[in-house]
Amino acid sequence: MLTIGMLGGMSWESSAHYYRLANEMVRERLGGLHSARCVLYSVDFAEIERLQSSAHWEQAGQLLGEAAAAVQAAGADVLVLCTNTMHKVADEVQAAIGIPLLHLADATAEAVTAAGVRTVGLLGTAFTMEQDFYRDRLASHGLEVIVPEAPDRAEVHRIIYDELCLGEVRDPSRQIYRGVIDRLVAAGAQGVILGCTEIELLISAADSPVPVFATSRLHVEAAVEFALRNRAAPSTA
Ligand code: GLU
Repeated sequence: MLTIGMLGGMSWESSAHYYRLANEMVRERLGGLHSARCVLYSVDFAEIERLQSSAHWEQAGQLLGEAAAAVQAAGADVLVLCTNTMHKVADEVQAAIGIPLLHLADATAEAVTAAGVRTVGLLGTAFTMEQDFYRDRLASHGLEVIVPEAPDRAEVHRIIYDELCLGEVRDPSRQIYRGVIDRLVAAGAQGVILGCTEIELLISAADSPVPVFATSRLHVEAAVEFALRNRAAPSTA
């Protein structure tokens, strides 16, 4: 199999989930003691968050581009950037490396489309819900994207940074998300994208009347598929 490069730490709570999922999926596919060949580079999220909140995206793109190059140098054949939000600088990251970056929004849009969903609700950080980079990428797959109203967006964002990125998974916050999902469904959403890699640590299919799309899981599935599809190449399973 090929080696999956993970550029994570944004936050490490979800990167740990990526690592576990990749290993579980390879074990399911290959059996026995097989596990995922991977390289994980984990950044200091406080540095990234400072650049996000001060809108220093260019610097963030440079920092992540350098980290991505280190992941390639460590032997990765393919890269996943383990955060929806930082796909704002996906082009800069891809430009810094000579291996493919598997775009999270593409893997997600393919799953949404395959489920027959055309109008989809999007939950994520304020950056992901309010800026164009992620919604436009989904729309390029023919999806109509709706986001929560401003007060709901603020709550969804707050719970990500103040709780989920710190490993706090709370029932009252799950109730808040359930309410937001219900309002997205009332506004026409036929499915809901959990468009932040920590949200699936809080929300599952049982919390929603419509299908939910867990972006970490979908991203890892795409990476494992890529790594195994190419397993005839240098390093065999
Ligand atoms: N992991 C989150 C995401 O998928 C938020 C943390 C970040 O801003 O990178 O967007």
